[in-house]
Amino acid sequence: MFKPFSILLLSFLFSCQMPLEKVSDKIVIAHRGASGYLPEHTMESKAMAYGMNAHFIEQDLVLSKDGIPIVIHDIYLDEVTNVQELFPDMSRSDGRYYVIDFTYEQIKTLSVFERFDHKTKKPVFPDRFPYNQSTFKLHRFQDEIEMIQGLNKSSGKTIGIYPEIKAPSFHRNEGKDISKIVLQILSDYGYTDQEDLCILQCFDPTELQRIRKDLSSELFLTQLMEFPAGAEDLDNYAVYANAIGPSIQQLILAGTGKKEGNKIVDKAHELGLKVHAYTFRKDEHPNFESYEDLLQFGFYDINLDGGFTDFPDITVQYLKESPQ
Ligand code: CA
Repeated sequence: MFKPFSILLLSFLFSCQMPLEKVSDKIVIAHRGASGYLPEHTMESKAMAYGMNAHFIEQDLVLSKDGIPIVIHDIYLDEVTNVQELFPDMSRSDGRYYVIDFTYEQIKTLSVFERFDHKTKKPVFPDRFPYNQSTFKLHRFQDEIEMIQGLNKSSGKTIGIYPEIKAPSFHRNEGKDISKIVLQILSDYGYTDQEDLCILQCFDPTELQRIRKDLSSELFLTQLMEFPAGAEDLDNYAVYANAIGPSIQQLILAGTGKKEGNKIVDKAHELGLKVHAYTFRKDEHPNFESYEDLLQFGFYDINLDGGFTDFPDITVQYLKESPQ
């Protein structure tokens, strides 16, 4: 009897007591889309990640002035768009251009580029998609959900979303409750509990607890961990979260050695928490000779359950072909 991929996926995602035996048990999360190839968080980058069979596609979320969740990594617009050119007078006293000061209509007029330093204008990853080339736009969270759900329908695949609530206290200071808005949209699109192909992530532990308790969310929740958060926080995270999201650099440093496993991952697993680490980059792996060595360390030596990557294609391929 054919077992749909979604059932397989869910069975490994949520069966915390089961040992992870098959390589397919591990999930690949497209970090800001296929951002190693196309400007991050553009629809083009997301469609490419979908075609590469990432298991989940990530959306970082920041509210516009009119309360619309925009898919963008920072609370600023000036490191991925031409906002300085189009709206020179709309920076704050710190010289930065904030997403929350612009309406969705204004945001739609901006062009999106490969990420650059807002002071030097130099691209962060010079070997990636050329800066200031072609035409890309920002979009609403809803637009991306509709594209992914539409592709799930047209392709028969079951690829999930992995949204992140960005800077909840910043939003609160600006008079906006981003978590409430995002949870409502998720619910509108059928993402309400752990059976649904959605994982919600946040760096702020107070906010993620609030999402679980006060806002009564039954979604699969990932507590992101800021470098250099330690293993002592895990007991607390296990009370409300289903997974932790440490940085891979944090895990490299916390490990006793490249081949000797890692205390954070082992302790998380003991507590029933999955571990999804960020960020696997083909063009940034300072501690390892090759990207494959980094993947080996993350997915096998320390036994991660998932990884955020800018290069979903080679990461999916690696897991498929790996003998371990
Ligand atoms: Ca993120």
